[in-house]
Amino acid sequence: PIYSKEDILRIVKEQDVKFIRLQFTDIFGILKNVAITVEQLEKALDNKCMFDGSSIEGFVRIEESDMYLRPDTNTFAIFPWRPQTGKVARLICDVYNPDGTPFLGDPRHTLKRALQRATEMGYDTFNVGPECEFFLFLTDNEGNPTTVTHDNGGYFDLGPVDLGENARRDMCMALEEMGFEIEASHHEVAPGQHEIDFKYGDALSTADAILTFKLVVKTIAQRHGLHATFMPKPIFGINGSGMHINTSLFKDGNNMFYDEKDPLQLSQDAYWFIGGIMKNMRSIAAITNPIVNSYKRLVPGYEAPVYIAWSARNRSPLIRVPAARGASTRLELRCPDPACNPYLALSAILMAGLDGIQNKIQPPASTDKNIFNMTPEQREEEGINALPKNLDEAIEELEKSSFVKDVLGAHIFEKYIEAKREEWDEYKAKVSKWEIEQYLTKY
Ligand code: GLN
Ligand code: MG
Ligand code: MG
Ligand code: MG
Repeated sequence: PIYSKEDILRIVKEQDVKFIRLQFTDIFGILKNVAITVEQLEKALDNKCMFDGSSIEGFVRIEESDMYLRPDTNTFAIFPWRPQTGKVARLICDVYNPDGTPFLGDPRHTLKRALQRATEMGYDTFNVGPECEFFLFLTDNEGNPTTVTHDNGGYFDLGPVDLGENARRDMCMALEEMGFEIEASHHEVAPGQHEIDFKYGDALSTADAILTFKLVVKTIAQRHGLHATFMPKPIFGINGSGMHINTSLFKDGNNMFYDEKDPLQLSQDAYWFIGGIMKNMRSIAAITNPIVNSYKRLVPGYEAPVYIAWSARNRSPLIRVPAARGASTRLELRCPDPACNPYLALSAILMAGLDGIQNKIQPPASTDKNIFNMTPEQREEEGINALPKNLDEAIEELEKSSFVKDVLGAHIFEKYIEAKREEWDEYKAKVSKWEIEQYLTKY
């Protein structure tokens, strides 16, 4: 819906809203918020709401920490799980400097910049459909999350094996009340693993929606005594959680990835978009797969991609072309995981694809064999590269990429690398349970 300031002021009265959460994210996509009372709302809608940005990751230094939150009125939504008298609503905000310029550390701004680029190139909409996977785990007697699930369900299983069924039902209902159009919800391959798919939309609304989605899923899980996690690989030996990203570019209501005359019914733009993603994939991996744990998912054997290849036939490659054509023609990027900052990830994916279009980067031939069954020599022969094998390698690729620096802007680029290096250095020095198991008695 498109809301004006007056609409919002009217709705909060009609709906008996008492508190408004002003939301934004840090550079890692972690949702932050400050609650204001409805009496302060008009001031907030006039963009006069200030907060101290110095304690937010990737934001500014102490001396220059005043930031302004500018609510995007179109993001207005009421939390259906909060009390229904004196309701709680939220508005997602853009972050501005005191001088009225957009704050360059605001990831939502990064995405707006990338979308601007698409507009300049003649595309009016970048449509994105995410497939969010997550685990539901039991909590212990103190209410702390565990990695235990009593659910032995598998792909598309239904009750009574699927203990998450009730939780998932309530999640879908809460999401619908907040304006989501839920397309599918099912048990995923691993025990305790689920997926809920909502309808694609333009990239900015979808990035907002991904954050809302995670909040809703975690909140409703908690009400069922469960812990929902979007950690990419919580348990060794079974599938991890991905967040496949389905993309298409539109112009005047037409899907620009579709061309009925092509053997695969894909347009030249679609091929170049694939070429651009494949070319830039190693440098954007630290954005789409941002944490140490992300790379434990990207290993052979668990339906997650490892190699940089594309196919219209099988599901093992990085980029898959789902069977639907016409207006539904899309490219599915299968490496992103739900730990990513959706604003930055969608910016990086879009800009990588646009780079392909701009520079007419023809992708290599599609790989219709199972890449995992190929020998390293065969892969080399076909020019199939691998994704970075860990966060360290991903940061290295990121760091040397002027393309990504341009996508993120120097501010986020530098802060991001700094923080990710710290994360890796800490992890690298830690002694893990695996090492103790392997070495303690052996040496
Ligand atoms: N969980 C798998 C992944 O890590 C995907 C499984 C599927 O949706 N087919 O990407
Ligand atoms: Mg799916
Ligand atoms: Mg899935
Ligand atoms: Mg998929």
